[in-house]
Parts: sequence; structure tokens; C-alpha cells
Amino acid sequence: MRLPRFEYLEPGSIKEACDLLSTHGDDAKILAGGTDLLVRMKKGLLKPKIIISLKALKELSYIKKEDSYIKIGAKTPIADIIASDLIQKEAKALASSCEKTGAVTIQHYRGTIGGNILQDNRCHHYNQSAFHRSGRQACHKDGGKICYARDESDRCNSTCQSDGATALMALNAAVTLVKKDKKRTIDLVNFYSNDGIMPHAMEPNELLKEIIIPLKGAKSAYHRLACRSAIDYPIVCAGVLIKPDRKNKIRDARIVVGAMGRSPLFLAKVSSSLKGKSINDTNAFKKASRASMDSAAAFAVHNIGASLEYRCQMVSTMVFRALEEAARSAIKAEQ
Ligand SMILES: Cc1cc2nc3c(=O)[nH]c(=O)nc-3n(C[C@H](O)[C@H](O)[C@H](O)COP(=O)(O)OP(=O)(O)OC[C@H]3O[C@@H](n4cnc5c(N)ncnc54)[C@H](O)[C@@H]3O)c2cc1C
Ligand code: SF4
Repeated sequence: MRLPRFEYLEPGSIKEACDLLSTHGDDAKILAGGTDLLVRMKKGLLKPKIIISLKALKELSYIKKEDSYIKIGAKTPIADIIASDLIQKEAKALASSCEKTGAVTIQHYRGTIGGNILQDNRCHHYNQSAFHRSGRQACHKDGGKICYARDESDRCNSTCQSDGATALMALNAAVTLVKKDKKRTIDLVNFYSNDGIMPHAMEPNELLKEIIIPLKGAKSAYHRLACRSAIDYPIVCAGVLIKPDRKNKIRDARIVVGAMGRSPLFLAKVSSSLKGKSINDTNAFKKASRASMDSAAAFAVHNIGASLEYRCQMVSTMVFRALEEAARSAIKAEQ
């Protein structure tokens, strides 16, 4: 598989990158590590005329604590996030999700956190070579009118398999997007669009600058299941956050299930059901885990890795393990 022809541009500043995006719009694509983008281009799923590389933009790579937030530059390598004491201590769900992303080569060599949360949705009917896809009618994501994953579906049901997106949504993170003369910050629950073709609310002339995680004195955890333990995407994953009060009752909880729908699923009602429960109430965790499974099952289709039935059942296990781990960390921090 060969890359299609394109023009390569390497801006020297964020401003220059925004100017180029504004000039070229839909014709251009940003290149961070390229581990998602270049694979899609080689498969003929994407043919941008212009590639705008972030290679020279060192100012987009940082992890810092500012006021009561952690701020991470979009081009920060996955390996730097794993190595950060701040992230390991204050945003464990993100650290764990990065440790499990892809393989060491992706974490250390090229993969960035921005590229991770902006990677395209996937589906085993679509993420195939051009030759494979040429043997059948185009589906919605390929510009056609059918969906092989769900009969009669009038839309694309491809799945968001980003580890980072699920963990960051559990941490209640937001992203800052910049374009020529404009900047906006949007939380991840509203950023993901639930549309398999355009999975997030990025405009073609926008650049992801920063990820912002609020520090709430809470504990978080992330668990996932993949067919192989390395070089593989999650087939189901869960990120959770628990904030206890002084009496060890849960004051705030967030449960997010990933790899089960077009975007990570923030289960607001199930999360609220944990409020007021004791931090070591195993029965409450089991009940919330089963409810998470029921909610997630409404969205998923059989289009990645294992069977749909297996993935649905494993939602409960992933959520339960994550809740137990976050609760254990909260109890340990109290002692
Ligand atoms: C074998 C293999 C296994 C993988 N396993 C996993 C896995 O287990 N979990 C997982 O989550 N991912 C996995 N991935 C996907 C991918 O490698 C990682 O998510 C990686 O972190 C993507 O980062 P990148 O910098 O290489 O992204 P790129 O490929 O450079 O970019 C991805 C997308 O984001 C856009 N983009 C990137 N940065 C910006 C920015 N600052 N502003 C605007 N747009 C931007 C690009 O235009 C592109 O559309 C895997 C990939 C491979 C090839
Ligand atoms: S979910 Fe359906 S429309 Fe979307 S990529 Fe898969 S087969 Fe195509």
C-alpha cells in the first residue's frame, strides 16, 4: 500500500499553522504522529491534497499544572504522559489509558495525545484496503447509502476506539481549539458528535491546541479489553472518576464506557446513582456496572473485534474493575 501524492507543509508557529488551515480548509489535514492518518491514507480512505505537519511546533508539547487544572499540549507524546508523575498521581485514568494504547513503538516513537483523541472512528467493514472495499457497494462512510454493520441503518455506526478519549471524558476534560483570530474551549461530552462519519465537532480550519483536566481531589481509573494485549485497539473500555466526601460517601462520580458506540458514552444517570453511597459499597458498584452494560448495549453494533454479545457483557466487568480501583485509591489517599 502506497501513500497518495500530497503537498507537505511545515509551519513554524501555531499562527502560521492556523493561517494555512484557513487558506486550505477541507483540502488539508494536520499531521501529528501520523499513526492514524497515514494508515488511513495508505488504505485510500483519505486523500488530502495538503498535509500540514506539526513537527516544528515544539510549543504544542507540554504537561503543566496551572491553578486547579492540568494542561496538556496537543502534540505531547503518549510516552511523556505515561512518564509524568503529575498525570500518574492526579489523572490515573489517563495514565492507564496511555499505557495500554497500541504498542511501545506507537507510545514512544510517534503517537500524540491530540492525534489519539482525534483519530477517526473504526469499523471492520470500512478499515480495509481499497482492493477489499472495491469488491462491494460503498457504505455510508465511503459515500454510499448502506451500512453493513446494521441492516437498514440510515447512518454510519462506526466505533470510537480511542483509549484517551474515554479516560479524558471520565476526567471531565475539555479541549481548546484555535483558528485564525479565534479560540474556543469545549468539554469532551459536547465535543464528540455521535456521528460515525464526523465523530467530533472540529471544524476543518481548527487546530487542537490543548487538553484541560480539572483537578477535583477525585480518584480515577481506566480498564480495557482488547483481543491482543499489545498493538491492538480496545473492544470495550471504561473510565471512571470518584470523589468522596470526608465521611467516605461518594460526592461525585463519572462513568464513561468506550469502544461501544460512535463516541465515548458518559452515563450520567448511572453515575448519579452512586452519589451518597459508601466508597466501599460493592453492591452499589455491581448495580452501576450492570446498568452501564444495559445502557451501552443500546448503542453498539457488531463492527469491531469480538462478538457484540461478548463486548456487551464485558462492559459490566470493565466498569466494576475501574470503580473498585478508583475506590481503593480514594481510601488509600484518606489513610
Ligand atoms: C497498530 C496500531 C494500533 C493502535 N492501537 C491503538 C490503541 O490501542 N488505542 C488507541 O487509542 N489508538 C490506537 N491506535 C491509533 C493511533 O496510533 C493512536 O491513537 C495515536 O495516539 C494517534 O496519534 P498520532 O499523533 O499518530 O495521530 P495522527 O495520525 O497524526 O492524527 C490523527 C488525526 O488527528 C488529526 N490531528 C492530530 N493532531 C491534531 C491537532 N493538533 N489539531 C487538529 N487535528 C489533529 C489528524 O489530522 C488526524 O486526522 C493504533 C494505531 C495503530 C497503527
Ligand atoms: S458502521 Fe456501517 S456505514 Fe459505518 S463504516 Fe461500518 S459499514 Fe460503513
